[in-house]
Amino acid sequence: MRNWLRKKIKDKLQGYRIQNNTVNDQLPLNVAPQKTVAIIGGGIAGLSSAANLAERGFKVTLFEKNDYLGGKLGSWTFDSNGETLRTEHGFHAFFRQYYNLRNFMKRLDIYKHLIPIDDYIIFYENGKQQGFAGIDQTPGLNIWDLRKKGILDFWTFVNPLSIQYLKLLRYHPNKTFKKYDTVSFASFAKKTMMPEHLKLVFNSFARAFFSEPEKMSMAELMKGFHFYFLSNEDGLLYDVLDDDFEYTFLRPVEQYILQNQGVICRNTSIDNISMKDNKFVVNDHTFDYCIWAADVKHTKRVLSEAAFTEGYPHFRKQMLQLNASDRYAVLRIWTDRFEKNPDLPFFLFTDRLQCLDSITFYHKMEKESKKWSEQHHGGIFELHAYTLPAHLTDDAAIQQQLLDEMFHYLPELKGLTIKHKFFQHRDDFPAFQLGNYKNRPTIQTEIPNFFLAGDWVKLPTTAMLMEAAYTSGAIAANHILSTEGLQEYPLESVCNEGLFA
Ligand SMILES: Cc1cc2nc3c(=O)[nH]c(=O)nc-3n(C[C@H](O)[C@H](O)[C@H](O)COP(=O)(O)OP(=O)(O)OC[C@H]3O[C@@H](n4cnc5c(N)ncnc54)[C@H](O)[C@@H]3O)c2cc1C
Repeated sequence: MRNWLRKKIKDKLQGYRIQNNTVNDQLPLNVAPQKTVAIIGGGIAGLSSAANLAERGFKVTLFEKNDYLGGKLGSWTFDSNGETLRTEHGFHAFFRQYYNLRNFMKRLDIYKHLIPIDDYIIFYENGKQQGFAGIDQTPGLNIWDLRKKGILDFWTFVNPLSIQYLKLLRYHPNKTFKKYDTVSFASFAKKTMMPEHLKLVFNSFARAFFSEPEKMSMAELMKGFHFYFLSNEDGLLYDVLDDDFEYTFLRPVEQYILQNQGVICRNTSIDNISMKDNKFVVNDHTFDYCIWAADVKHTKRVLSEAAFTEGYPHFRKQMLQLNASDRYAVLRIWTDRFEKNPDLPFFLFTDRLQCLDSITFYHKMEKESKKWSEQHHGGIFELHAYTLPAHLTDDAAIQQQLLDEMFHYLPELKGLTIKHKFFQHRDDFPAFQLGNYKNRPTIQTEIPNFFLAGDWVKLPTTAMLMEAAYTSGAIAANHILSTEGLQEYPLESVCNEGLFA
């Protein structure tokens, strides 16, 4: 019976993998005569556009305000107590249905750095752990199997209120957003009397989008559940990079862009763009095309006021309505202690006392961190708070709270000595909050030859976070290739509609 269902479900979800565009292989690959492209922002979205267009002969110039590339996947060095150490913006999970990002990583020989995580774990306040390994990987059957994990019980399946959960299997990009973008996860959970364990699972999803349940759009959450759990047979399992992002991802991509005659300008914040003869003037240079791939916070600041957007009131309005998430924090510490249980995976979610959402064990995961750990006999831990409560505003208080909560989950670490630390307190993540979707801008804008890319841009296909960032950059590049009569890059995604949509 299960095998029959598995086949039916896979057929219904189009083999879990669909091609989103038609590639005409009769068209030429490379542009001639050469055209120029300005790309603003060196995160995954900007790097995606830059690498794809440089490979096809465009003269690409990438402007990045920081002195490092990668944006939220960035990595940089800092000095502390006589040592030079490397840190990153934060732990990142590379899910297996990130088809486009993974194809790109294969093309650039970066894929070999991915290593699997054993399980997706939620660590409860009472010390219990919730794992997801061992349940059926088939969408739909995985929900049925949540019984085995105690997340759902027989009552959930016979409870009349549970009929609402079928909506999760009916994800539809238009209908779901129309109906649920103004409903918060908190109110949906209350209305459906969601079982406590299921609420915690959803909460860990909501927090991965940097939003409190009261503000999180239920439509975005349904999309997330569809994308991560109900549209593919990879389960919630994922891979991580085996060394610092700089060595495994950023340097190879940078080298690829440079080898293809691209130019990278670091420490160059673009605060003004103008137009002359239908071309873009950026940093005193003229470009045929422009791809804006900055984060949502800086995009709003620059593009809602830029003179060249004046003739495009709809675009301006969209820029003015952009929102960043609430504040979040990342604290990495280099210590003289290790956790007691060596079998814990590299990364785990907590059910959060006040602000600690996740713990990453870097000394087990990344080569450079392992080396430091062996030399100094201590662990490297990273603590994330994806949304900070309103009362926690002071940097010292946030760090102390994060540490206190880590000691709650890992009491053996109490009394550790922190040899080095790097703390970030930021507010630049896109908001996936109530009612945001309607005014979210698309990649192609009203402004001719001006495109948007980033994890906050509305996509024609189903992707989120890093996959959304990569895919948006690649779609922007495809628009330019298509305008120039060239072959597009093939792009894929999971099925855009749920099992019962
Ligand atoms: C702590 C943390 C953990 C995360 N974990 C995961 C995860 O596990 N899995 C996952 O898929 N995603 C995760 N994400 C999300 C993921 O990092 C992002 O979705 C993705 O990296 C966004 O890429 P981007 O290119 O759209 O934007 P960004 O990375 O924000 O890049 C934008 C770039 O534009 C630059 N810029 C801004 N303004 C200007 C300007 N005026 N001029 C020039 N440059 C400018 C910025 O400096 C930045 O480099 C996480 C994010 C955070 C913060």
